[in-house]
Amino acid sequence: MNLTKYIDGVKSGKISVVKTVEKILNEAKNSPNHFAAITKQYALERAEFLEKKPEGRLAGVSISVKDCICVKNVESAAGSEILKDYRPPFNATVIEKLEAEGAIIIGKTTQDEFGFGSFSVNTKKIPKNPLDNLRSCGGSSGGAAGFTAFTTQPHLAIGESTGGSIANPASFCGVVGLTPTYGLVSRYGLIDYANSLDKIGTIAKSVNDAFLGLHVMAGHDKKDSTSLQQEIEKEKKVKKIAVIKESLDVDKEIKDLVLSKIRDYDLISLPSIKKYSLQAYYLIALAESSTNLARYCGLRYGASEALKGNFDQYFTEVRSKFFSQEAKRRIILGTFARMSGFRDAYYLKAMKVRTLIINEYQKAFKKYDILVSPTMPIIAPKFSEISKLTPAENYMMDILTVGPNLAGLPHLSINAGFKNKMPVGIMLTSNYLHENKLQYLGGEIENQKV
Ligand code: GLN
Repeated sequence: MNLTKYIDGVKSGKISVVKTVEKILNEAKNSPNHFAAITKQYALERAEFLEKKPEGRLAGVSISVKDCICVKNVESAAGSEILKDYRPPFNATVIEKLEAEGAIIIGKTTQDEFGFGSFSVNTKKIPKNPLDNLRSCGGSSGGAAGFTAFTTQPHLAIGESTGGSIANPASFCGVVGLTPTYGLVSRYGLIDYANSLDKIGTIAKSVNDAFLGLHVMAGHDKKDSTSLQQEIEKEKKVKKIAVIKESLDVDKEIKDLVLSKIRDYDLISLPSIKKYSLQAYYLIALAESSTNLARYCGLRYGASEALKGNFDQYFTEVRSKFFSQEAKRRIILGTFARMSGFRDAYYLKAMKVRTLIINEYQKAFKKYDILVSPTMPIIAPKFSEISKLTPAENYMMDILTVGPNLAGLPHLSINAGFKNKMPVGIMLTSNYLHENKLQYLGGEIENQKV
């Protein structure tokens, strides 16, 4: 059942919020590692309240929240051991907005530590793909997408993307992933990965459900200095579509599935994106993340140890013990890219390349409303395959998603069919604030019979 139908049922008293929430809590508990925390008592109390007073645009809708988004008094550890037991004394702006419209938070979903990864394996509790438990849900919003595919109940997942962490798991789990324009949704209360790239978005079973959640969360917030003043453009007509030529350099079955979903398109070339986007993304993301991670010292948040030695010795001990190998790798690489002597050659160069990429997209959007590509070059890999990948091979999996993320462009991943019984995603990218065009074309694609 889609969310609009469910909300209508709740408002007319035909559907019981309490029964729905009881069922979904049970599914959350039995899901293969999709939850880091389940807020059972709170959810049941909210459900009773909303059953009596079913008001708001999301009246009675169960929401799962990616672990990196702060929920007051609920452990919000961003998948990291160093933030274990951190219970924020405040809500992220998106949580306030969702609850004001009648949403019910059912728990925090599992993810790669701080969003560092593409398969949700860089964490203690690794979510499994509901379509095949030997495979990954993708990442880093793995639990969010996994549970969206797993649950039989009306539900909306709130995810986060820095370089593809919404589109990637949506593609691997066969659901819809919506990443909005950078700045459209407030980042206040999001545990930062890389501030110039992070975006909160939605994962849902249908395109309209994903947009319903976005409309509730969007809007200016004075608590986030990068939050936009503008609103989503009204125009939704899609006149011209182009497929990014370089993105078709993938497995033939994936390419054919993606192309089978659209008609009347041109092929265009975006050479810089293929050549430089991964390198630029990983330099910028790691440089920013290495500064963000400096705040975890074992004193202010989360994990701590018995105080001994001087501050340096204490910080070293805590950070060595509680940061994962991947977080340490990112601290070292990111710090290197920002160091005097290397800053011009790496970080500043990457920033210039970012502008080049933005310009390449802008040129394309002069002529086209939507750019199309596969979401991921592969289907969800098996855990046994992932463990053989080197860090660089891991990063390379993001080749198709880092482009729109670097440029801050909205993008939508929808299921395009199946290869070896596993989902394949098609990704639509539009210009800034043209989310309505994504919804329009996304809806058309979704309604086609595969
Ligand atoms: N896989 C990418 C990375 O590790 C993207 C992660 C994300 O969007 N949070 O940086």
